[in-house]
Amino acid sequence: MTERIINFNPGPSAIPLPVLEKAQGELLNFQSSGMSIMETSHRAKEFDGLLAETQALALKLLGLGDNYKVMFMGGGASLQFAMIALNLMNEGRTADYVNTGTWSTKAIKEAQIVGEPKVAASSEETNFNRIPKQDELVLNPDASYVHITSNNTIKGTQWVDFPDTGDVPLIVDMSSDILSKRYTMDKVGMIYAGAQKNLGPSGVTVIVMRDDMIEKCKGDALPTLLRYKTIWDKNSLYNTPPTFPIYLVKLVLDWIDGQGGLDAVEKINRAKGDLLYGLIDEMSDYYRGATEKESRSLMNVCFRLPTEELEKKLIADGREAGFNGLKGHRSVGGIRVSMYNAISLDNIKALVEYLKDFAGKNG
Ligand SMILES: *Cc1c(COP(=O)(O)O)cnc(C)c1O
Repeated sequence: MTERIINFNPGPSAIPLPVLEKAQGELLNFQSSGMSIMETSHRAKEFDGLLAETQALALKLLGLGDNYKVMFMGGGASLQFAMIALNLMNEGRTADYVNTGTWSTKAIKEAQIVGEPKVAASSEETNFNRIPKQDELVLNPDASYVHITSNNTIKGTQWVDFPDTGDVPLIVDMSSDILSKRYTMDKVGMIYAGAQKNLGPSGVTVIVMRDDMIEKCKGDALPTLLRYKTIWDKNSLYNTPPTFPIYLVKLVLDWIDGQGGLDAVEKINRAKGDLLYGLIDEMSDYYRGATEKESRSLMNVCFRLPTEELEKKLIADGREAGFNGLKGHRSVGGIRVSMYNAISLDNIKALVEYLKDFAGKNG
């Protein structure tokens, strides 16, 4: 293969080409320091500047004020499942979780090791093909927090907007849709995201926490590196953070900013969704959407074909035609098109042409 393919991988996933080119261009000599950012101390002024700029830009793009702090850690979003419960599920209290798929289920499992989380609503009965409505949520006003997964990477569903949690802070796993569309943020106490879907490479988790939440976090009762207080107080520099992934996240944020920020990116993502779901609706005898319409994800589009043989053929022929990563997760089957921010409208136009052509030839 001499050209880059169109990469629909679910994660790690496509990184915008201008970001890779920029990183390539300054790989050997970062900002005239005479060395790569990979070779730079996390205590050096070059990295200090980079960290501060990344934090400020993330808050700006998310539309959050300086009462929030951006933190960086290793361990993936999966470590956050445990840390959230360890730090924030207070004695005698509980936390509410909305179960909308594989990742929500894992978050609940980790919380069960620590305490007694309650499931405020679940769509498990229908194999997680929908997001529960606000009036289905059984919320406890004494809960420490409400946890949701904004986009269900595996099942292909996404919240239209965040639920109203009253006075209870909302914690959101935004691993697969952070900075892809605007949500109402006023209940948000914390969001977190593994970077490898929509923000850059694997190896770093971005955590954004409101200042009143850090006050509620446990201190000495936990090992040092499992305390949010440590990460917060040391500004993510208690130990060596994943410096190169943080640098790449900065380049991705610059790329989003350069396009006009979150609203501009959302507009493109909606156009991509209209195009691909439009085709699924138009050819619904052939391409069967795997989720309820109102819960459709703009990031991961899951659908089935008339037979599994045809699904296999579509994936194999697609690879020949330069489309990679179309295989659905083993728990759902079928096709999954992961179209994070790095996938352009033109990429989706090309895919839609391929899908039309495939259906015509294999009807
Ligand atoms: C991929 C994913 C995770 C797991 O992320 P890791 O960084 O591999 O731990 C968690 N939540 C969601 C929504 C995801 O898409």
